[in-house]
Amino acid sequence: MIDAHAHLNDPAFFDDLPDLLARMREAGVEGALVVGYDLPSSQRAVTLARAHPPLRAAIGVHPHDSKELTDEALVALRALAREPEVVAVGEIGLDYHYDHSPRPVQREAFRRQLALARETALPIVIHEREAEEDVRAILDAEDGWALGGSWHCCSVDAASAAEIARHLFIGIAGWITFPKSENIRALARAVPLECLLIETDAPYITPVPFRGKRNEPAYLPRTLQMLAQVKGIPEMDVERTTTANVRRAFPRWTSVEGG
Ligand SMILES: [Zn+2]
Repeated sequence: MIDAHAHLNDPAFFDDLPDLLARMREAGVEGALVVGYDLPSSQRAVTLARAHPPLRAAIGVHPHDSKELTDEALVALRALAREPEVVAVGEIGLDYHYDHSPRPVQREAFRRQLALARETALPIVIHEREAEEDVRAILDAEDGWALGGSWHCCSVDAASAAEIARHLFIGIAGWITFPKSENIRALARAVPLECLLIETDAPYITPVPFRGKRNEPAYLPRTLQMLAQVKGIPEMDVERTTTANVRRAFPRWTSVEGG
């Protein structure tokens, strides 16, 4: 199984990365996509992926930090995109829940990074929270759906997810294990397994029964087990399909190891 969204570039992991990678291997997690959220974290994602072959990198500026997407930052991201370890532009999108950057600034940063993805022929990793309508409108206007990649799921309902899944893979995180998150389980039932990815979003969204601890890729099997239970499909099949889905969502994934 592969963790399709983890921030191993976060300072929370600076002290124990080798141990974390060992735990990840023992848990049967064969790879992880390290997702950037600003320029330094995107650079660290590439450095980590280069040093540790089971890792790949996504580069981009998170909607929270849209203010930081200067012309210079965009030039630096464009250069990074050429590195062979980079398989996607992300996470990018809109977050109207926190509004850490003004909405017009978020929309402009999103558009510019979609252009970057187009230019570099990379798929995208979308972050969306309480901004579905605007994310969809910008993807429509910028021909963003055709880029492929994943919608890192926060706030869409089951019917929307099924519709989005015609273009982008839907990421299922540890929410699915939370007793209150019936909406995420409904979403997981509504979207075909062939369109789902599993992810930790580490260090956030720690699954049951590890809540209160820092999340890490070694906890991904909890999300896999719950997804299998919710869909009534054997774990082995969920593992095989979601792993294949990662390579379909991010076609450059295989090119580094050549297999
Ligand atoms: Zn994330």
